[in-house]
Amino acid sequence: MNNPSTNPVVKDLILIGGGHSHLSVLKYFAMNPIPGLRLTLITRDLHTPYSGMLPGYIAGHYEYDQAHIDLRPLAQFSNARIYHTEVNSIDLEKQLITCTGRPAIHYDFVSINIGSKPGTLHIPGADEFTIPVKPIDRFLSRWDILIEQVLLSVKQNKTFHLAIVGGGAGGIEMALATQYRLQHLLTQKNIDSQHLIIEIYCDGDNILPTHNSQVRKRFNRILQQRDIKVHNNSYINKVEQDRLTSIDKTQYTAHATLWVTNASAPTWLAESGLQVDEQGFIAVNDTLQSTSHKNVFAAGDIASVVNHPRPKSGVFAVRQGPPLARNLARAITNKPLKPFKPQLNFLGLISTGDKYAIASRSNWSLEGAWLWRAKDWIDRKFMDNFNELPEMKMESTPEYDQAMLDKKTSSEVSAMAMRCGGCGAKVGSTVLSRVVSRLNPVSRDDVVIGLNELEDAAITDVPPGKLIVQSVDYFRSFIDDPYIFGKIAANHALSDIFAMGAEPQSAMAIATIPYGIEDQVEDQLFQTMSGAIEVLNASNTALVGGHSSEGAELSFGLSVTGLVDRDHIMRKTGLLQGNILILTKALGTGTLFAADMRQKAKGRWIDAAMQSMLLSNQAAGLCLYRHGATACTDVTGFGLLGHLVEMIRSSKKSVNINLDSLPIMDGALEVMAGGIFSSLQEQNMKLQTVIKNRDDLLKHKHFPLLFDPQTSGGLIAAIPAINADMCLAELHELGYRDSVIFGEVTGDKQSDESITLI
Ligand SMILES: Cc1cc2nc3c(=O)[nH]c(=O)nc-3n(C[C@H](O)[C@H](O)[C@H](O)COP(=O)(O)OP(=O)(O)OC[C@H]3O[C@@H](n4cnc5c(N)ncnc54)[C@H](O)[C@@H]3O)c2cc1C
Repeated sequence: MNNPSTNPVVKDLILIGGGHSHLSVLKYFAMNPIPGLRLTLITRDLHTPYSGMLPGYIAGHYEYDQAHIDLRPLAQFSNARIYHTEVNSIDLEKQLITCTGRPAIHYDFVSINIGSKPGTLHIPGADEFTIPVKPIDRFLSRWDILIEQVLLSVKQNKTFHLAIVGGGAGGIEMALATQYRLQHLLTQKNIDSQHLIIEIYCDGDNILPTHNSQVRKRFNRILQQRDIKVHNNSYINKVEQDRLTSIDKTQYTAHATLWVTNASAPTWLAESGLQVDEQGFIAVNDTLQSTSHKNVFAAGDIASVVNHPRPKSGVFAVRQGPPLARNLARAITNKPLKPFKPQLNFLGLISTGDKYAIASRSNWSLEGAWLWRAKDWIDRKFMDNFNELPEMKMESTPEYDQAMLDKKTSSEVSAMAMRCGGCGAKVGSTVLSRVVSRLNPVSRDDVVIGLNELEDAAITDVPPGKLIVQSVDYFRSFIDDPYIFGKIAANHALSDIFAMGAEPQSAMAIATIPYGIEDQVEDQLFQTMSGAIEVLNASNTALVGGHSSEGAELSFGLSVTGLVDRDHIMRKTGLLQGNILILTKALGTGTLFAADMRQKAKGRWIDAAMQSMLLSNQAAGLCLYRHGATACTDVTGFGLLGHLVEMIRSSKKSVNINLDSLPIMDGALEVMAGGIFSSLQEQNMKLQTVIKNRDDLLKHKHFPLLFDPQTSGGLIAAIPAINADMCLAELHELGYRDSVIFGEVTGDKQSDESITLI
């Protein structure tokens, strides 16, 4: 594996989209790392649905995780950073990728595998009134609503017309799979399914135009047997609420419409200046390299191989993966690319919803339940390749491939070995000033000398009657996205200020950026600082200075200063008998990120944990104060129990904790049950001696969560009982949906065993 601390990054390869081709690319670079190459995967969805299993998933034969590839562990396996966001343009000249809600990302090489979506453009009402089957994750969230609609309608003996627009393999499989699933659910509920009518609309003379006549015959027979009506020559050109209109002006009733028509491409590709085909797909030559830009590659549905046009299909996207990976490696190391010719025909196994399949290849066809079993076996084997990843060992650092270094980079790499420590390890002043000039910190009247003044230190005013509140936090990055890390670190640092009932005023940043060539150092610093600035600005905190240095790994923190009225302070030492204890965020970041490091956490768990860490405690702090909090603190490294003990000891009180009530992040219990804990857990657990009835509840599944260290965790507050319910309701309204009442202050502390679990 590439070790960035000894092999500074000299080239960036960005993979846009976690489609079928990029799965192989990630695996290829895991097995064949290129020293000095940094891989980043930008993906809108963290779990890629495997197209072959999609109909089976809709039919209910597979669970979500069986039919999806979790991109986060795969990216980690490949030592790739994963950015969870959507790309919306590329500046091909400046080599910058623009994404939703974050700073642009630089690339040296980019590979695009973002799939396609059914074309609804120019069809009035299609965007508003239909459910496109792609992007599949969005389809799946609407699918659950559709199930409810159908069940409700049919139960009331009202006929429900479900339309499928598109008569290709995707449309036919969807029609059969949805029917199978819906009928199964209706039978389970003892509801007669005769009121469910499924109809297919296709624009040609027959369904499955790219398959042979035998296949068409077999499917027409099965559709007839299943009472699915096919409307041939019915090009739908208008969609309204509950109604479809075809080109010959015939109108059809459709209470819901699934849109499974020909694939279309997003417009930003052509708008970026990439050469595209007439449908807007990226034109690539036989090496999968863009015909217009040498450092851009594309594969899967989004690519159009100009010399070998093929139908849009997951099979072709999968097959393009290995040649794409090899050609990317060749391009990066300045070697000639190798052409790849996709096969003309492939064996298609098209399922019929009921664990039965029809095989299609050239002029040949077969059918049977055994074909579904064969398909199931092949699909599961494919998924195992990406979901069951071997442990990778850190190898000794190999040498750079000199062919990938230009003259400037080569001399920078040589100079890096000579870098000294101490002040010499500072990030260069030009890099720093360039980064600072790109940041836009808020300005405040009470900042007398701030970031943009050439002075040795910042000066701030302290308004009369106010007290200064100060805190500092600094830690090593535990995620591979510097922008998100900067945001979390800023939230974490500001939490101390909010927990004390203060308003933040200013902050100083301290950053350690991994050694690298100038452009890389600048980019990492900028991404990290941009994240931090966003959070600081949102709370009207002025960034007034900082210090940066180069080191082995990315670390970042902030020293923050706040202002508070003397009678507005919330302290740990204010627990009163009868107070209700409120916690504002779920627990579990420590164990989840420990699992993430071992590639044992699901991408969606980590994503949800990050969303929680990105939630500022500012509004919660104010809400708790408004409801009369007599004591407050934030939950960080010592875990819930550790921070609560600080409150108990300073207030000399004892408390009850209701273990069942604790809010827990998705996946945390599974991970802990698998024996994975944060490295701080053991240390934190030394405090369990304060629990009076520890032995009774030691086996409770929530027990270990008491000691789980949190990053950017929630607030614990003691609220007068009379205000507790109102306070909780307001917290929920403010977006702290995991807030709970988790205990109460029972009386004075009688002994060291001051916590009782209930
Ligand atoms: C109902 C249905 C059934 C099908 N069944 C089969 C089948 O059985 N066999 C078969 O071979 N084909 C099948 N297909 C076709 C198949 O789904 C596609 O051909 C295949 O998914 C294309 O793969 P891909 O790698 O190009 O992209 P995808 O698999 O679609 O992956 C694209 C990825 O890019 C990400 N992404 C998209 N836009 C952005 C963006 N702007 N920024 C960042 N990330 C982005 C997405 O999150 C996604 O992870 C079916 C299609 C449908 C609709």
